Amino acid sequence: AKESGRNNAQFFTAELNDRVVKRMHLESDLRHAVERNELVLYYQPRINAMTGRLAGVESLVRWQHPSEGMILPANFIPVSEESGLIVPIGAWIIREAMRQHVAWNASGFGQIPVSINLSAVQLKEGGLLKVLEHALKDIPADARHIELELTESILMDNVPATIKALEEIKALGFSLSIDDFGTGYSSLNYLYQFPIDRLKIDKSFVQNIHISSHNLAVTNAIIGLGHTLGLQVVAEGVELEQDVNLLCAAGCDELQGYYFGKPMPAEQFEIWLKMEQDA
Ligand code: C2E
Ligand code: CA
Ligand code: CA
Ligand code: CA
Repeated sequence: AKESGRNNAQFFTAELNDRVVKRMHLESDLRHAVERNELVLYYQPRINAMTGRLAGVESLVRWQHPSEGMILPANFIPVSEESGLIVPIGAWIIREAMRQHVAWNASGFGQIPVSINLSAVQLKEGGLLKVLEHALKDIPADARHIELELTESILMDNVPATIKALEEIKALGFSLSIDDFGTGYSSLNYLYQFPIDRLKIDKSFVQNIHISSHNLAVTNAIIGLGHTLGLQVVAEGVELEQDVNLLCAAGCDELQGYYFGKPMPAEQFEIWLKMEQDA
Protein backbone atom coordinates (compact mmCIF):
# COMPACT_ATOMS: atom_id res chain seq x y z
CA ALA A 1 0.00 0.00 0.00
CA LYS A 2 2.90 2.28 0.92
CA GLU A 3 4.49 1.58 -2.43
CA SER A 4 1.37 2.44 -4.40
CA GLY A 5 0.89 5.64 -2.33
CA ARG A 6 4.30 6.85 -3.38
CA ASN A 7 3.57 5.93 -6.95
CA ASN A 8 0.40 7.97 -6.80
CA ALA A 9 2.27 11.00 -5.49
CA GLN A 10 4.81 10.67 -8.25
CA PHE A 11 2.04 10.26 -10.75
CA PHE A 12 0.29 13.44 -9.58
CA THR A 13 3.50 15.46 -9.58
CA ALA A 14 4.31 14.26 -13.05
CA GLU A 15 0.82 15.13 -14.19
CA LEU A 16 0.96 18.61 -12.66
CA ASN A 17 4.35 19.19 -14.21
CA ASP A 18 2.98 18.00 -17.51
CA ARG A 19 0.14 20.50 -17.27
CA VAL A 20 2.43 23.43 -16.45
CA VAL A 21 4.69 22.54 -19.36
CA LYS A 22 1.70 22.16 -21.67
CA ARG A 23 0.41 25.56 -20.66
CA MET A 24 3.82 27.16 -21.32
CA HIS A 25 3.91 25.56 -24.74
CA LEU A 26 0.35 26.69 -25.38
CA GLU A 27 1.23 30.29 -24.57
CA SER A 28 4.34 30.30 -26.74
CA ASP A 29 2.46 28.61 -29.61
CA LEU A 30 -0.30 31.17 -29.22
CA ARG A 31 2.22 33.94 -29.87
CA HIS A 32 2.57 32.66 -33.42
CA ALA A 33 -0.99 31.51 -34.02
CA VAL A 34 -2.09 34.67 -35.82
CA GLU A 35 0.91 35.00 -38.13
CA ARG A 36 0.78 31.26 -38.89
CA ASN A 37 -2.86 31.55 -39.83
CA GLU A 38 -3.99 29.01 -37.27
CA LEU A 39 -7.01 30.89 -35.95
CA VAL A 40 -10.34 30.35 -37.67
CA LEU A 41 -13.73 31.95 -37.15
CA TYR A 42 -16.78 29.73 -37.03
CA TYR A 43 -20.24 31.23 -37.55
CA GLN A 44 -23.47 30.33 -35.80
CA PRO A 45 -26.82 31.50 -37.20
CA ARG A 46 -29.22 33.69 -35.25
CA ILE A 47 -32.84 33.35 -36.33
CA ASN A 48 -35.67 35.87 -36.41
CA ALA A 49 -38.36 34.29 -34.18
CA MET A 50 -41.26 35.76 -36.20
CA THR A 51 -40.12 34.89 -39.71
CA GLY A 52 -37.82 31.93 -39.08
CA ARG A 53 -35.26 33.58 -41.39
CA LEU A 54 -31.61 34.32 -40.74
CA ALA A 55 -31.12 37.44 -38.60
CA GLY A 56 -27.33 37.33 -38.41
CA VAL A 57 -24.39 35.22 -37.30
CA GLU A 58 -22.15 35.17 -34.26
CA SER A 59 -18.46 34.64 -34.93
CA LEU A 60 -16.76 32.20 -32.56
CA VAL A 61 -13.01 31.69 -32.69
CA ARG A 62 -11.24 28.32 -32.88
CA TRP A 63 -7.55 27.51 -32.88
CA GLN A 64 -6.44 24.90 -35.37
CA HIS A 65 -3.30 23.80 -33.54
CA PRO A 66 -0.78 21.92 -35.74
CA SER A 67 -0.31 19.05 -33.26
CA GLU A 68 -3.11 19.38 -30.66
CA GLY A 69 -5.94 19.67 -33.18
CA MET A 70 -8.86 22.03 -32.76
CA ILE A 71 -8.78 24.03 -29.52
CA LEU A 72 -11.98 25.70 -28.24
CA PRO A 73 -11.95 29.30 -26.95
CA ALA A 74 -12.41 28.25 -23.31
CA ASN A 75 -8.98 26.60 -23.57
CA PHE A 76 -7.02 29.53 -24.97
CA ILE A 77 -8.94 32.82 -24.54
CA PRO A 78 -8.18 32.96 -20.77
CA VAL A 79 -4.45 32.34 -21.46
CA SER A 80 -4.50 35.00 -24.13
CA GLU A 81 -6.15 37.46 -21.73
CA GLU A 82 -3.60 36.85 -18.98
CA SER A 83 -0.67 37.24 -21.37
CA GLY A 84 -2.11 40.25 -23.20
CA LEU A 85 -2.10 38.29 -26.46
CA ILE A 86 -5.85 38.86 -26.68
CA VAL A 87 -5.11 42.37 -27.99
CA PRO A 88 -3.50 41.29 -31.30
CA ILE A 89 -5.68 38.17 -31.46
CA GLY A 90 -8.80 40.26 -30.82
CA ALA A 91 -7.80 42.74 -33.51
CA TRP A 92 -7.39 39.86 -35.96
CA ILE A 93 -10.85 38.52 -34.99
CA ILE A 94 -12.47 41.92 -35.57
CA ARG A 95 -10.88 42.34 -38.99
CA GLU A 96 -11.53 38.76 -40.07
CA ALA A 97 -15.23 38.94 -39.12
CA MET A 98 -15.59 42.25 -41.00
CA ARG A 99 -13.73 40.83 -44.01
CA GLN A 100 -16.08 37.83 -44.09
CA HIS A 101 -19.14 40.10 -43.83
CA VAL A 102 -17.92 42.06 -46.87
CA ALA A 103 -16.99 38.87 -48.76
CA TRP A 104 -20.49 37.40 -48.23
CA ASN A 105 -22.04 40.58 -49.54
CA ALA A 106 -19.75 40.52 -52.59
CA SER A 107 -20.70 36.93 -53.38
CA GLY A 108 -24.42 37.64 -53.29
CA PHE A 109 -25.45 36.58 -49.78
CA GLY A 110 -26.41 40.15 -48.85
CA GLN A 111 -25.48 42.10 -45.75
CA ILE A 112 -25.40 39.34 -43.14
CA PRO A 113 -25.05 41.00 -39.72
CA VAL A 114 -22.00 39.56 -37.94
CA SER A 115 -21.39 39.76 -34.22
CA ILE A 116 -18.01 39.62 -32.53
CA ASN A 117 -17.23 38.69 -28.92
CA LEU A 118 -14.99 41.13 -27.05
CA SER A 119 -12.94 40.45 -23.96
CA ALA A 120 -12.66 42.83 -21.00
CA VAL A 121 -8.95 43.31 -21.73
CA GLN A 122 -9.71 44.61 -25.23
CA LEU A 123 -12.18 47.15 -23.89
CA LYS A 124 -10.04 48.30 -20.98
CA GLU A 125 -6.51 48.39 -22.29
CA GLY A 126 -6.55 47.20 -25.86
CA GLY A 127 -6.84 50.49 -27.73
CA LEU A 128 -10.15 49.13 -29.00
CA LEU A 129 -11.37 52.37 -30.53
CA LYS A 130 -8.24 52.66 -32.69
CA VAL A 131 -8.50 49.02 -33.73
CA LEU A 132 -12.10 49.59 -34.81
CA GLU A 133 -11.30 52.85 -36.61
CA HIS A 134 -8.44 51.26 -38.54
CA ALA A 135 -10.55 48.24 -39.44
CA LEU A 136 -13.28 50.50 -40.82
CA LYS A 137 -10.71 52.41 -42.85
CA ASP A 138 -9.29 49.25 -44.42
CA ILE A 139 -12.42 47.12 -44.77
CA PRO A 140 -15.49 48.54 -46.54
CA ALA A 141 -18.06 47.20 -44.06
CA ASP A 142 -21.14 49.06 -42.92
CA ALA A 143 -20.56 49.22 -39.15
CA ARG A 144 -24.28 48.97 -38.41
CA HIS A 145 -24.10 45.33 -39.51
CA ILE A 146 -21.15 44.62 -37.24
CA GLU A 147 -22.19 43.98 -33.66
CA LEU A 148 -19.90 43.82 -30.67
CA GLU A 149 -20.89 41.52 -27.79
CA LEU A 150 -19.81 42.40 -24.27
CA THR A 151 -20.71 40.38 -21.21
CA GLU A 152 -22.82 41.87 -18.48
CA SER A 153 -19.94 41.63 -15.98
CA ILE A 154 -17.60 43.62 -18.26
CA LEU A 155 -20.15 46.44 -18.46
CA MET A 156 -20.80 46.64 -14.75
CA ASP A 157 -17.14 46.81 -13.78
CA ASN A 158 -16.62 50.56 -14.14
CA VAL A 159 -19.90 51.99 -15.32
CA PRO A 160 -19.00 55.63 -16.14
CA ALA A 161 -15.84 54.60 -18.05
CA THR A 162 -17.76 51.88 -19.86
CA ILE A 163 -20.58 54.23 -20.90
CA LYS A 164 -18.00 56.63 -22.35
CA ALA A 165 -16.14 53.84 -24.21
CA LEU A 166 -19.39 52.43 -25.59
CA GLU A 167 -20.57 55.84 -26.77
CA GLU A 168 -17.34 56.29 -28.72
CA ILE A 169 -17.75 52.86 -30.33
CA LYS A 170 -21.39 53.60 -31.08
CA ALA A 171 -20.36 56.90 -32.71
CA LEU A 172 -18.38 54.86 -35.26
CA GLY A 173 -21.66 53.15 -36.15
CA PHE A 174 -21.20 49.70 -34.58
CA SER A 175 -24.07 47.84 -32.94
CA LEU A 176 -23.67 46.65 -29.35
CA SER A 177 -25.13 43.82 -27.34
CA ILE A 178 -24.94 42.53 -23.79
CA ASP A 179 -23.93 38.87 -23.71
CA ASP A 180 -24.72 36.27 -21.03
CA PHE A 181 -27.42 38.50 -19.60
CA GLY A 182 -28.82 37.29 -16.28
CA THR A 183 -25.58 35.79 -14.98
CA GLY A 184 -23.98 39.01 -13.72
CA TYR A 185 -25.36 41.67 -11.48
CA SER A 186 -26.74 44.43 -13.64
CA SER A 187 -27.87 47.52 -11.94
CA LEU A 188 -31.16 48.18 -13.69
CA ASN A 189 -30.54 51.81 -12.91
CA TYR A 190 -27.51 51.80 -15.23
CA LEU A 191 -28.81 49.50 -17.89
CA TYR A 192 -30.80 52.16 -19.71
CA GLN A 193 -27.73 54.43 -19.84
CA PHE A 194 -25.71 52.02 -21.98
CA PRO A 195 -26.06 52.71 -25.72
CA ILE A 196 -26.89 49.07 -26.50
CA ASP A 197 -29.15 47.46 -29.09
CA ARG A 198 -29.63 43.92 -27.85
CA LEU A 199 -29.70 41.64 -24.83
CA LYS A 200 -28.66 38.01 -25.11
CA ILE A 201 -30.24 35.80 -22.44
CA ASP A 202 -27.64 33.39 -21.10
CA LYS A 203 -28.06 29.79 -22.19
CA SER A 204 -28.12 28.53 -18.60
CA PHE A 205 -31.66 29.95 -18.32
CA VAL A 206 -32.80 29.15 -21.83
CA GLN A 207 -31.73 25.49 -21.76
CA ASN A 208 -34.03 24.63 -18.87
CA ILE A 209 -37.18 26.58 -19.59
CA HIS A 210 -39.14 23.49 -20.61
CA ILE A 211 -38.54 21.86 -17.21
CA SER A 212 -37.98 24.80 -14.87
CA SER A 213 -40.78 27.26 -14.23
CA HIS A 214 -38.18 29.37 -12.42
CA ASN A 215 -36.01 29.68 -15.55
CA LEU A 216 -39.05 30.33 -17.69
CA ALA A 217 -40.06 33.14 -15.32
CA VAL A 218 -36.54 34.68 -15.44
CA THR A 219 -36.49 34.43 -19.23
CA ASN A 220 -39.92 36.06 -19.50
CA ALA A 221 -38.82 38.84 -17.14
CA ILE A 222 -35.65 39.54 -19.17
CA ILE A 223 -37.67 39.69 -22.39
CA GLY A 224 -40.08 42.15 -20.76
CA LEU A 225 -37.25 44.24 -19.35
CA GLY A 226 -35.45 44.31 -22.69
CA HIS A 227 -38.57 45.40 -24.53
CA THR A 228 -39.30 48.08 -21.95
CA LEU A 229 -35.83 49.47 -22.60
CA GLY A 230 -36.43 49.33 -26.36
CA LEU A 231 -33.94 46.49 -26.90
CA GLN A 232 -34.07 43.40 -29.07
CA VAL A 233 -33.86 40.21 -27.02
CA VAL A 234 -32.00 37.11 -28.19
CA ALA A 235 -32.14 33.68 -26.55
CA GLU A 236 -28.96 31.62 -26.86
CA GLY A 237 -28.50 27.90 -26.34
CA VAL A 238 -31.82 26.97 -27.96
CA GLU A 239 -31.64 23.20 -28.44
CA LEU A 240 -35.20 21.86 -28.42
CA GLU A 241 -38.39 22.52 -30.32
CA GLN A 242 -40.18 22.95 -26.97
CA ASP A 243 -37.79 25.80 -26.16
CA VAL A 244 -38.51 27.43 -29.52
CA ASN A 245 -42.24 27.35 -28.83
CA LEU A 246 -41.93 28.75 -25.32
CA LEU A 247 -39.57 31.52 -26.45
CA CYS A 248 -41.80 32.51 -29.36
CA ALA A 249 -44.79 32.61 -27.01
CA ALA A 250 -42.77 34.82 -24.66
CA GLY A 251 -42.14 37.31 -27.47
CA CYS A 252 -38.40 36.71 -27.78
CA ASP A 253 -37.09 38.45 -30.94
CA GLU A 254 -34.26 36.19 -32.01
CA LEU A 255 -33.15 32.63 -31.32
CA GLN A 256 -29.73 31.02 -31.50
CA GLY A 257 -28.63 27.49 -30.70
CA TYR A 258 -27.92 23.96 -31.88
CA TYR A 259 -31.59 23.50 -32.80
CA PHE A 260 -31.01 25.83 -35.76
CA GLY A 261 -27.32 25.32 -36.41
CA LYS A 262 -24.00 24.75 -34.68
CA PRO A 263 -21.06 27.12 -35.19
CA MET A 264 -19.59 26.26 -38.63
CA PRO A 265 -16.73 27.35 -40.85
CA ALA A 266 -17.75 30.03 -43.40
CA GLU A 267 -18.00 27.63 -46.36
CA GLN A 268 -20.21 25.25 -44.41
CA PHE A 269 -22.40 28.13 -43.25
CA GLU A 270 -22.87 29.15 -46.91
CA ILE A 271 -24.14 25.64 -47.72
CA TRP A 272 -26.44 25.76 -44.67
CA LEU A 273 -27.77 29.14 -45.76
CA LYS A 274 -28.48 28.02 -49.32
CA MET A 275 -30.43 25.04 -47.98
CA GLU A 276 -32.38 27.29 -45.59
CA GLN A 277 -33.26 29.75 -48.33
CA ASP A 278 -34.47 26.96 -50.60
CA ALA A 279 -36.54 25.38 -47.83
P1 C2E B 1 -20.56 32.88 -25.79
O1 C2E B 1 -20.23 34.18 -26.42
O2 C2E B 1 -21.64 32.86 -24.77
O3 C2E B 1 -20.86 31.90 -27.01
C1 C2E B 1 -21.83 30.90 -26.98
C2 C2E B 1 -21.21 29.53 -26.77
O4 C2E B 1 -22.25 28.58 -26.67
C3 C2E B 1 -20.33 29.06 -27.93
O5 C2E B 1 -19.30 28.22 -27.41
C4 C2E B 1 -21.31 28.23 -28.75
O6 C2E B 1 -20.69 27.25 -29.55
C5 C2E B 1 -22.12 27.59 -27.66
N1 C2E B 1 -23.48 27.24 -28.10
C6 C2E B 1 -24.21 27.78 -29.08
N2 C2E B 1 -25.42 27.21 -29.18
C7 C2E B 1 -25.46 26.27 -28.21
C8 C2E B 1 -26.47 25.31 -27.81
O7 C2E B 1 -27.56 25.24 -28.35
N3 C2E B 1 -26.13 24.53 -26.75
C9 C2E B 1 -24.92 24.58 -26.12
N4 C2E B 1 -24.69 23.75 -25.11
N5 C2E B 1 -23.97 25.47 -26.48
C10 C2E B 1 -24.24 26.29 -27.51
P2 C2E B 1 -17.79 28.41 -27.85
O8 C2E B 1 -17.71 28.68 -29.33
O9 C2E B 1 -17.01 27.27 -27.30
O10 C2E B 1 -17.38 29.75 -27.13
C11 C2E B 1 -17.34 29.81 -25.71
C12 C2E B 1 -17.08 31.20 -25.22
O11 C2E B 1 -15.77 31.64 -25.63
C13 C2E B 1 -18.03 32.25 -25.80
O12 C2E B 1 -19.24 32.24 -25.09
C14 C2E B 1 -17.22 33.51 -25.60
O13 C2E B 1 -17.34 33.97 -24.27
C15 C2E B 1 -15.80 33.02 -25.84
N6 C2E B 1 -15.44 33.33 -27.23
C16 C2E B 1 -15.72 32.68 -28.37
N7 C2E B 1 -15.23 33.29 -29.45
C17 C2E B 1 -14.59 34.41 -28.98
C18 C2E B 1 -13.89 35.49 -29.60
O14 C2E B 1 -13.78 35.57 -30.84
N8 C2E B 1 -13.38 36.45 -28.77
C19 C2E B 1 -13.52 36.40 -27.41
N9 C2E B 1 -13.00 37.38 -26.67
N10 C2E B 1 -14.20 35.41 -26.81
C20 C2E B 1 -14.72 34.44 -27.58
CA1 CA C 1 -21.36 35.78 -27.39
CA1 CA D 1 -23.40 34.17 -24.46
CA1 CA E 1 -20.67 32.77 -22.24
